[in-house]
Amino acid sequence: MNIVTRRQFLATSAVMAAVPLVALTGREALAADAPRLDPDDAQAKALAYVHQSGKAGQNCANCRLYTGTSQVDWGPCAIFPGKQVAGAGWCSAWVGKS
Ligand code: SF4
Repeated sequence: MNIVTRRQFLATSAVMAAVPLVALTGREALAADAPRLDPDDAQAKALAYVHQSGKAGQNCANCRLYTGTSQVDWGPCAIFPGKQVAGAGWCSAWVGKS
């Protein structure tokens, strides 16, 4: 019969609790390292993406598809995986946050 000591239990619990935190932090680090979307990229052009929105009240930072935080100027977008878009940017796929 295996008897788990209190020390083993606490050590295992600490590791298990840290795994999601490391995974989340790693994902955010990867997103922050992603290259910035080039407006001349074919898909960006197809959606009329620009780094600076010309639409009043519409920008990437307030788009439902933007997954960046308001604390940074660039962040990921569901439309352009593996790239960062400008928080101040815009494209024709813009959808307001509800
Ligand atoms: Fe910006 Fe367009 Fe992505 Fe919305 S869908 S975050 S407007 S690039």
